[in-house]
Amino acid sequence: MTPQLVVRRALWKDAPVDVLVAAGHILEVLPHDARRDFEAAWVVDAPGLLLFPSLIDCHTHLREPGFEYKEDMASGLAAAAAGGFGQVLCMANTTPVNDTAAVTQLMLDKAHEAWPFGPFPRPVGALTKGLCGVELAVMGELAEAGCVAFSNDGRPVENTELFRRAVEYAWDLGKRVIDHCEDPHMALGAGVNEGAVSSRLGLPAQPDVAEAMHVARDILLAEYLDIPIHVAHVSCRKSVELLAWAKKRGVPISAETCPHYLMLTEEAVEGYNTLAKVNPPLRTKDDVLALRQALAGGVVDCLCTDHAPHAAHEKETEFEDAPCGITGLDTALSTTWAMVGRGELTRADFLRAWTTAPAAIFDLPVCAFAPGDPADFFLFDPKARWVVGPETLKSKSKNTPLLGQAMTGRVTAHFLGGKNVL
Ligand SMILES: [Zn+2]
Repeated sequence: MTPQLVVRRALWKDAPVDVLVAAGHILEVLPHDARRDFEAAWVVDAPGLLLFPSLIDCHTHLREPGFEYKEDMASGLAAAAAGGFGQVLCMANTTPVNDTAAVTQLMLDKAHEAWPFGPFPRPVGALTKGLCGVELAVMGELAEAGCVAFSNDGRPVENTELFRRAVEYAWDLGKRVIDHCEDPHMALGAGVNEGAVSSRLGLPAQPDVAEAMHVARDILLAEYLDIPIHVAHVSCRKSVELLAWAKKRGVPISAETCPHYLMLTEEAVEGYNTLAKVNPPLRTKDDVLALRQALAGGVVDCLCTDHAPHAAHEKETEFEDAPCGITGLDTALSTTWAMVGRGELTRADFLRAWTTAPAAIFDLPVCAFAPGDPADFFLFDPKARWVVGPETLKSKSKNTPLLGQAMTGRVTAHFLGGKNVL
């Protein structure tokens, strides 16, 4: 078969390769040498550029419908494309809530209008109607409309009986529940860790046990039902230790964490910095180290951004009034690849956590450069320097504590189904 596209001399795991693409799929990946000339409609020469499979972000907030002033499908997917993401799971806390097929369809239509060849949103349906935690959403209808998982993200479900039924029903539909683990009676959404920094600043704060108690519930429930549950945005050592215990016992449980929990501590909120206000809150150095270890051992399966855009006027207010959230689609690739460079994360764990693990957990297509895989990959200039700022971020919102920081590495081309979408 004649390739539609050949990418030459890109570096895959430090070795130069040629990637042959036909009909939107990988035909072959060969070590690069001069012995073959390819007849291809399109040849891209990529010396010195790194080759990566498109990343999967299993936790984002794209804000459409309802909060288009923060983000919409077009801008959120622009940030995804430039940030190396080919698929993003987007949460249901829109207005209206994504608890009907009509809302799911609207999200997919808007995305298709703006980015017909991807990146692709993979909607996460609401677990309960209106995310109110009282009545199950029409999960069958949502699955049929294209929802890939279910979650009450942002609004923890206290009613364990209802939660149990949701987990069972989702599994009957072949889907997994993603649980935002937080005790809603313990400083819900305070956005600051309870500890030395919160006392000094005099802010209402949330202890790590508010998260870990819910993680423990989910582990016990997953074991009892023998149905997997996915724990969202793990932030602390206590949750990690519970997950390690569970995995050792063979409990079907999976988990994700975000770059900010691997790099930042509670000190980031010093000076009442609302850009570091996030839920769950940034924790301590010890929690950061526990999460890095957990990722290395596979106790935490996936990385995700929890991309949570908010407008400038919403963050430029009193700390207690500001909403929780950090954007991440634009920056996550550079920050986590830098961790690989510093030896804080291995390349194998980086690839697993951003690609194969979320694909396996949520049953999504993924490129591992095997023949027949979708030709979803990007080229990355590891030497490109850029500064995080309003001009460099594609997301409509700029609420990241990384503002003003120098980054290394930029996506120069992003191929989805073999088409460059950038
Ligand atoms: Zn959440």
